[in-house]
Amino acid sequence: MAKRDYYEVLGVERSVSAEELKKAYRKLAVKFHPDKNPGDHAAEEKFKELGEAYEALSDPQKRSAYDQFGHAAFDPRQRAGRGGAGGGFHDPFDIFRDVFGGGAGGSIFENLFGGQQADPSQPQRGDDLRYDLEITLEEAALGCEKEISVTKLDACETCSGSGAEAGSKLKTCATCGGRGQVLTSRGIFSIAQTCPHCKGAGRLMEKPCKSCSGNGKRQKSSKIKLRIPAGVDAGSRLRSSGNGEAGFRGGPSGDLYVVLHVKEHEIFQRDGDDLICEVPVSFVQAALGGEIEVPTLEGRATIKVPAGTQPATTFRVKSNGVKNLQGYGQGDLHVRVLVEVPTHLDHAQRAKLQEFSALCDGKQAPLASGFFEKAKKFFK
Ligand SMILES: [Zn+2]
Ligand SMILES: [Zn+2]
Repeated sequence: MAKRDYYEVLGVERSVSAEELKKAYRKLAVKFHPDKNPGDHAAEEKFKELGEAYEALSDPQKRSAYDQFGHAAFDPRQRAGRGGAGGGFHDPFDIFRDVFGGGAGGSIFENLFGGQQADPSQPQRGDDLRYDLEITLEEAALGCEKEISVTKLDACETCSGSGAEAGSKLKTCATCGGRGQVLTSRGIFSIAQTCPHCKGAGRLMEKPCKSCSGNGKRQKSSKIKLRIPAGVDAGSRLRSSGNGEAGFRGGPSGDLYVVLHVKEHEIFQRDGDDLICEVPVSFVQAALGGEIEVPTLEGRATIKVPAGTQPATTFRVKSNGVKNLQGYGQGDLHVRVLVEVPTHLDHAQRAKLQEFSALCDGKQAPLASGFFEKAKKFFK
């Protein structure tokens, strides 16, 4: 399918200023945002198209490339030799957040309509919440279940979130006559302001719920069960749907976003899906070879160290790393041996080593003989 012209997508002239471009994007992105058009596939496509067009035209370098080469400027197959404007576009939601400045947590629409009062008589979605959770490397690698306790605004139990006492009806606000706005005269001007009595709703509860003073929400501590999938890493964000703050007037609850932090491990270091572990072996073990036992996340494994193993040699223990988050198997454990030189030798041990040294003729130390062979010319 032929791609639409980016200027056309945003409904702007080719000479549009950066400021006007942003304005045009704002207007259309809000209109077609999937949160506002749930289940509308065409709107979602339109939203993505807008994000891509805005991303291209808001970057002066990309815009100039687009003006010269059109869509080919971003086509990786045609990029070679064209001074490349860079391929790949970002997530349209990221673009949207960039433009509207939504931070982590808080609902986008809350940020969006910041100054603009949402219609208070309409259902309101609850706010999204953020929770920071620290887990161990074992939990991140293998997955786990956690129960967290979150204090948040939940629907008031007394009034089931309606904000009204049982049997209470809505009455028209006497202050504004149900219009939700009052007019104030300033000389020859009349200024419409949100009614201070009903806060713009136009209607009032006859008897507001006493437990929540009519807010429909109360601060409550809830226990929430989380299933942490295997393979998550520091910074992973899990969404616990519907566990944010309660909505109001039948609006849905927000979501809870759990941001994961992983504690440093005493023994293992993580490298993607692999784990690295350093295991000390004595120089005798390294020289003679043998089996050593190494720790794994779930227990232990035995590895065979061949005779003559050098320091920092790494052995792979297959499938004892971190489970892949997307389900593609499991990483490996890499065991790096630290060859340890003995300290505090007693008299007998020292004598044996000296005896051993006297028996050496250089063949036992291939690295050293190779090195000193090369270094000969520097010793002149
Ligand atoms: Zn209540
Ligand atoms: Zn009113």
